Amino acid sequence: MRTVNAYAAVSATGPLVPTAVRRRDLGPTDVLIEIAYCGICHSDIHAVRGEWGPQPYPLTPGHEMTGVVTEIGADVTKHAVGDRVGVGCMVDSCGICANCEQGDEQYCLTGNTLTYGSTDTDGSTTQGGYATHIVVTEDFVLRIPDGLGMEAAAPLLCAGITSYSPLARWGAGPGKKVAVIGLGGLGHMAVKLAHAMGAEVTVLSQSLKKQDDALRLGADHFYATGDPKTFETLAGTFDLIVNTVSAPIDLPAFLGLLALDGVFNTVGASGVPEIAFPVGAIAANRRVYTYSLIGGIRETQKMLDFCAQHRIGAEVEIIPASKINDAYERILASDVRYRFVIDNTTLN
Ligand code: NAP
Ligand code: ZN
Repeated sequence: MRTVNAYAAVSATGPLVPTAVRRRDLGPTDVLIEIAYCGICHSDIHAVRGEWGPQPYPLTPGHEMTGVVTEIGADVTKHAVGDRVGVGCMVDSCGICANCEQGDEQYCLTGNTLTYGSTDTDGSTTQGGYATHIVVTEDFVLRIPDGLGMEAAAPLLCAGITSYSPLARWGAGPGKKVAVIGLGGLGHMAVKLAHAMGAEVTVLSQSLKKQDDALRLGADHFYATGDPKTFETLAGTFDLIVNTVSAPIDLPAFLGLLALDGVFNTVGASGVPEIAFPVGAIAANRRVYTYSLIGGIRETQKMLDFCAQHRIGAEVEIIPASKINDAYERILASDVRYRFVIDNTTLN
């Protein structure tokens, strides 16, 4: 057991504060990682503020980390000391259920272990990446390909895979019209990835403020959803809409933007537990509504390799750990361009 420096929330309402968290001794298949960077996902805010239910405080969030392997267990074969690696939203799963076997560990039938706030096999609460080090079983450690910067790669471990998975599943590519709702951490990755896949990309943002950025990131079109004319102009247009908004939206209005057989894939987590199912808007054009959670481990590695091949990383603003609480406020104000990433050396 070792104790490492970290930041943690101690309640749903107070700021995050410097603290220390315990990391288990290395088991035979464990890897010790010195964390270089950790992205701040909006999910961290939803979680620590209790928007998804009561949390086991003190809680260290963070599930978008990159770093270097500094020690390995006796039976580790996939990683070596000195390797550049990453860890995302999951740190373990049963590995033997049908969903795990097909690489969908995020849907593990017996429940996976999330990077923070889950109960670990030893009964302790998992603690995330706002820390100097983490111990993770090797199967849940990803390889960061050469050519990807460690700071720009960190957000790929959640924002990247969560955007990539629905784009890949629903065939974003040449000839397909893809819309992305919300240009934040996930949204800006969705734009870059959909563009790299060859799709025609439209950003639907609250206002026109981020238009220049979106076009630079690879979007072909940009519309403000605050303007009601947008919904008339774009009615029946898209093959795929990826909704990354962190708040409730007017779902029937957005569903009206789908073409025949169009797919609406939500990834944003509004904190609203249930929505009234908009049967009329779905039935009008044989539309599909779905929600997806991150992506599996194999798919995450595929996404990282795709990003390296296409030279795609996140647009990051690097901050010291002392600015985490300020970053939270800016994220809540949609004032993030486009992912805050903690320089974890500032925790030392
Ligand atoms: P983010 O950086 O804060 O981006 C969210 C964007 O949504 C904002 O930049 C803003 O874009 C738009 N938005 C915010 N409030 C809005 C409102 N009231 N009405 C309309 N648009 C609004 O957040 P993120 O880190 O990308 O995460 C987005 C959501 O995805 C969060 O709810 C997060 O928990 C969830 N998430 C889900 C998964 C999954 O596995 N499904 C994984 C990671 C995150 P504009 O300024 O362009 O309008
Ligand atoms: Zn996340």
